[in-house]
Amino acid sequence: MTSVPDVTLRHPWETPPATGEAIEVAEGVLWMRLPLPMKLDHVNVYALDDGDGWTVIDTGFSSPEARGIWEQLMAGPLQGKPVNRVVVTHHHPDHIGNAGWFQAKHGAELVTTRTAWLFARMLTLDVQDTCPQETLDYYRSAGMVPEIYEKRITERPFNFSDVVYPLPLGFTRIQQGDVFRMGGRDWDVHMGNGHAPEHATFWSRDDDLVITGDQILSSISPNIGVHATEPMADPLADWLEACERLAPLARPNHLALGGHKLPFTRLPLRMRQLIDNHHGALDRLMDYLDQPKSAAECYTPLFKRPIGEGEYGLALVEAVAHVNHLYCIGKLHRSRRADGAWLYQRKD
Ligand SMILES: [Zn+2]
Repeated sequence: MTSVPDVTLRHPWETPPATGEAIEVAEGVLWMRLPLPMKLDHVNVYALDDGDGWTVIDTGFSSPEARGIWEQLMAGPLQGKPVNRVVVTHHHPDHIGNAGWFQAKHGAELVTTRTAWLFARMLTLDVQDTCPQETLDYYRSAGMVPEIYEKRITERPFNFSDVVYPLPLGFTRIQQGDVFRMGGRDWDVHMGNGHAPEHATFWSRDDDLVITGDQILSSISPNIGVHATEPMADPLADWLEACERLAPLARPNHLALGGHKLPFTRLPLRMRQLIDNHHGALDRLMDYLDQPKSAAECYTPLFKRPIGEGEYGLALVEAVAHVNHLYCIGKLHRSRRADGAWLYQRKD
C-alpha cells in the first residue's frame, strides 16, 4: 500500500453504470446514465429511495430512446416503484429534458428553482425555424468566423423544444437556505450560479453526499457562457462568487455526485481547482490582449488546445464570458471592427 498524496481527486468507481443499469453509491442512492448525442456523450442521473417511491435527480435529453431507457430503469433497478418526484438541478436540456414527461405521464411532482423553471419553459415555447437576428448580431459581435456564421444563417438553429419534453404548468420551488428531505436524508439547498442561473446543489446533513449537478464536476470545467438573451452578462463573476461561497461547505470525505463524469471525493481540492482554472485563464487572456482581438480570436490562450467545429459554439459563448468579465471589471476597453466584431484590448 502506498499512500496517495492529497493532490488528486479520488474516484471510488472507475467505471460508470452501463445503459439501463444502476450503481448504488450510498444506501438508497442509485447512480445511472443516459446517452447524449454530442462530444460530452452522457449525463448522470440519480434516484433516491423515499420508501414508497423514488425522487429522481435530472432526466436527460428528451427522446423516445431516452424514455425507453428510463422505462428500463424503472422496471429494473427502480423495482417498479413509482417516481413520485423529479428534482431538476438547472434548466439545461440534458437535465430537464424528460421532466415534463415524468409529470405528464407518471404524475410526478417537479421540484426546481424558479429561474430554472422559467428559463426552461420560456425556451421550450420559443421555437425558431431560422436563427433570430439578435443571435446573428451576437455572433458578429463575438467575431464568429465567416464559414460558421454563413452556416448558422441557413441552418435551423438549436431549439430547446427539440430536446425538452413540453413542461406542463406547475412546479414546486426550492431556494437558497431550504432544507429538503429525500432518500431518507435532510439536504441543505445551496444555489450555484454562472453555469446556469440559480443552479441547485444539495448537501446532506446526515452523511457525506453532495449532489452538485453541473456546478461542480470532476474532470471538466463547467461551461460558462454568454448568450444573445443577455449579451452583456458577466456569468464568470457569478460563477466565481458561487464557487467561493460553496467552497467552505466542502469536506475532503464528501462524495460529490455531479451531472457528468465520475463521482469523486476530495471536494475542497476540486473547488480550489475550479476557481484557479478560471483565474489562470483570465491571466493568460490579459497577457494575450496587448493587441486588439475579438472573443473568437481568444480560443488559444483560453483553451490551450484546438477547437473543432462541433465545439465551436460552446467555445464562443465561453470566450465571450471571459472577455465580458474583464471588460465589466474595467480591465479591457473595446472598439468595433468594420465587420461588427468587438475588439478587446488590455488597458495599460
Ligand atoms: Zn449538463
